[in-house]
Amino acid sequence: MALSASEKVWWNKPLRVLQFDFEDFLDLYASKITGRKVVEVAEKIRANVIVVFARDAWGYTYYRGGRAGPPRPGMKGDFLRELVEEAHRRGIKVVAMVAHTANKLLYMKHSDWAQVNRRGEPVLLEHAPSLGRWRFQWPQLCPNSPFLEHATLEVREAIELGVDGILFDSFRYQPDPEKACYCRWCRQKFREEFGYDMPVDPDWNNSVWRTLWDWRYRVVVKALSRLAEEARKSGRKVMVLYNSHPAGWAGRANRVVEEARGVLDGVFAECSEADYQPPGFIAEMVKLTKAMAGDGVKVFAS
Ligand SMILES: [Zn+2]
Repeated sequence: MALSASEKVWWNKPLRVLQFDFEDFLDLYASKITGRKVVEVAEKIRANVIVVFARDAWGYTYYRGGRAGPPRPGMKGDFLRELVEEAHRRGIKVVAMVAHTANKLLYMKHSDWAQVNRRGEPVLLEHAPSLGRWRFQWPQLCPNSPFLEHATLEVREAIELGVDGILFDSFRYQPDPEKACYCRWCRQKFREEFGYDMPVDPDWNNSVWRTLWDWRYRVVVKALSRLAEEARKSGRKVMVLYNSHPAGWAGRANRVVEEARGVLDGVFAECSEADYQPPGFIAEMVKLTKAMAGDGVKVFAS
């Protein structure tokens, strides 16, 4: 269960968060950054929380000695381990981003774990051009496949590094026709549970289609519950967060946040649309997220 607001938890106070992502497939800066440098930036801007990758969407880890993926090539030292030590020395909490459904390296070993659309094509995180050949960057893996066990290992390794929270920054498994998964694991589970094959074409008059739609949300929430349970096994007060993109970025759904009540301690309301939305947009998205998440759930916003 998520911890309620009345319990003594580290996140029950005003938080100022520095989120630091590596999206550097040209290797321009990853080898120049250390955990200490990130902590120094956090201190400079008076942040009391750092959000950072334990594993990125390509499948690389940002620490050494784990089994969840190879360390990021060119990484200086033991990035995340050093960051956690340095941050704690300065009273700053660390939230690790783990278990993104996108994982290219794992896909290259286990392509049968991929989410595939109704045409059998991998479901990608990136917005790939519709013309020409596109080399996948971020194929998404399916939480109904053995990928979920791998994701559990990622959570465990992050907790062992001493992080104070975990964020499922990009945990995607969506019901909309172009992104919905028809992999063999999904098809088999659905048939076992309901006795029908998964319908392919949307038909709202068909109860099996509606059942499939609802079931996909339950798949996400069940997977999040499993991962959250792993995080809380440590007995430490580890914050469990989920990135919701409340305005629907790339088809994200607030319904996950609502159905995951009791599982999440916090929601990151990432407002990527703020660039072209009117003033007040982020405040509205925070209100919406609070309403969906229920009492006592912390909302991060940007
Ligand atoms: Zn699937």
